[in-house]
Amino acid sequence: MPLPDNLKDTIMPRFHNPLNRTRGFTMIEIMIVVLIIGILCSIAVPLWMGARENTYTKSCVSQLRQIQSAKEAWAIECQMDDSSVPTWDQLLQYIKTQPQCPAGGQYTIGAVVDDPICSYGNDHQID
Ligand SMILES: [Zn+2]
Repeated sequence: MPLPDNLKDTIMPRFHNPLNRTRGFTMIEIMIVVLIIGILCSIAVPLWMGARENTYTKSCVSQLRQIQSAKEAWAIECQMDDSSVPTWDQLLQYIKTQPQCPAGGQYTIGAVVDDPICSYGNDHQID
């Protein structure tokens, strides 16, 4: 036998069900979420940019060393002195492809005794 409605409420009170809410978010809740996303972005973006720059620098230094090794191999094999400056065509016999700086710098081969130079500057140089 079903209970009458006025008795149902006194015996089984209707609890607030959080899954059944329909009022949406308040302005304050939306502002807090936007603020948190903004803080996370302001931390993450500079870290990501720094990591990318660091990768470019390491890749460039590695290529500068490769160019220097090719210059030394060329000087030994062709019996050139330390002040000789090879061309890219001569170096490409010792390295597969002409290296490109990932940050957009241009390489200057230079004499055998000197390190090759990247025009990008910063840390793009052999230590
Ligand atoms: Zn470079």
